[in-house]
Amino acid sequence: MTARIIDGKAFAEGLRGRIAGHVQRLQREHGITPGLAVVIVGEDPGSQVYVRNKAKQTVEAGMLSEKYELPATTSEAELLELIDRLNNSDRVHGILVQLPLPSHIDPNRIILAIAPGKDVDCFTPESVGRLTIGLPGPVSCTPLGCLMLLRDTLGKLEGLDAVIVGRSNLVGKPMAQLLIRENCTITVAHSRTKNLPEVVRRADIVVAAVGRPLLVKGDWIKPGATVIDVGINRVAAPEKGEGKTRLVGDVDFEAAVKVAGAITPVPGGVGPMTIACLLANTVTTASLINGLVPPKDLTP
Ligand code: NAD
Repeated sequence: MTARIIDGKAFAEGLRGRIAGHVQRLQREHGITPGLAVVIVGEDPGSQVYVRNKAKQTVEAGMLSEKYELPATTSEAELLELIDRLNNSDRVHGILVQLPLPSHIDPNRIILAIAPGKDVDCFTPESVGRLTIGLPGPVSCTPLGCLMLLRDTLGKLEGLDAVIVGRSNLVGKPMAQLLIRENCTITVAHSRTKNLPEVVRRADIVVAAVGRPLLVKGDWIKPGATVIDVGINRVAAPEKGEGKTRLVGDVDFEAAVKVAGAITPVPGGVGPMTIACLLANTVTTASLINGLVPPKDLTP
C-alpha cells in the first residue's frame, strides 16, 4: 500500500486564488482593501526571506502590504510606538511581528500590545480565548492550514481519534482546539509522554509538530491513518555533496508512506499553507473590523 500524498503546495495555490476572489469582492462591494503590516526587527536572514515571501503573496492576492524593517538596535519603546500606530491605522487589518525578536525586547510585551482584532497570528490571549470558545476571529495559521488539508482529505472528521505530538502555543495547543471543534477525540502527546509509539498507533489522524527529524517511525502509524507532518528540520545531506543539507519533517516519510492512507510531504505539505492562512486571516479580520461576516471557506 502507498499513501495518497497530500499536495499542500497545490492546495495553498487554490486557496490563494479563492482569497484573491474574496479581496476583489470586498473592494467591489464595500470599498475595503485588506491590509497586512509585517514588522521585522534585526537582520536574521531566515526571517527576512520569510517576510519577503509574505509581502509578495499579500500583494499577489490584491491586498495592501506594509513592511517595516527595523534595525536590531530598535528599542522596545520604539517598537511599541509602531504597534500603536498600526493598531490605529485604517489601512491595516492585520499586524504580524516576526519572531524571534532581539533579546533586549520582551516578545510578550509586544504581543500583548497588538490589537486583538488585528492579531492575524492568533497570539494574544483574546484571540486564543476566542478560538477556544468558537467565536469568530483569526485562527493560528499553521493549525488552520492543517485543518483545511485534513478536511480536504477526509471530509468529516467527527469521531476520529487524533493524536497531536507537540503541545506548543504556536501549533500543538491550537490544533487540539480546532480538532475538538471537529468532534475528534484528542490526545496531545509531548516530551514527557510515556510510550509514544503506542499512543500514536491508536490514531486515525496524526499531527506531528515537534521539531525532531524523523521522530515518528513508520511502524508507529496505524494502517490507513492520515499523517500531517508540521515539522521542518534541516539535516545534513552528504548524498547531495559535501556540506549540503535537505529539509525533512518529524515523520519518517519513506517508511510512513507505505502504511498511512494519506500523508503530507516535507517540503510541499503544511509549509505552503501557513502563509496562505495568514492571508486568509487578514481577510477575516478586515471583514470583522468592518462589521461583515468573514468568508466561510477561510475560517474553521
Ligand atoms: P516547539 O519547540 O515550540 O514545541 C515542540 C513540542 O514538541 C513541545 O511541546 C515538546 O513537548 C514536544 N516534544 C519535544 N520532544 C519530543 C519528543 N521526543 N517526543 C514527543 N514530543 C516532543 O515547536 P513548534 O513551534 O510547535 O514547532 C514544531 C515543528 O514544526 C518545528 O520543526 C517547526 O519548525 C515546525 N513548524 C512548521 C510550521 C510550518 O509552517 N510548516 C509552522 C510552525 C512550526
